[in-house]
Amino acid sequence: MSREVIAYVNWGRWVGDCATPGCGNARMLSPGEQVFDCDAPGRPGAPRPVEGVCAESYPIVWPDDPAAVMAPLAGLPEGQRNWKPEPEETDDAAR
Ligand SMILES: [Zn+2]
Repeated sequence: MSREVIAYVNWGRWVGDCATPGCGNARMLSPGEQVFDCDAPGRPGAPRPVEGVCAESYPIVWPDDPAAVMAPLAGLPEGQRNWKPEPEETDDAAR
């Protein structure tokens, strides 16, 4: 099974969580970025290598139109600029 990193918005920034179980790393993403390098700096100017993270790379899954997701968030206070994709409906049966 291939793993991938889901892009979401936290405090007005695109973020992705590492897909390695137990790694727990998260870092900011730039729209259009295609590869999540876990050991890349988490913030501009952050030291590298980052300690305690895996060194895996995963494809990043973006919403169809990241700009359209971000646009309505722009008018909100920074702490409310959050967005996550809807969980995939993988089971049509009633819960
Ligand atoms: Zn990792």
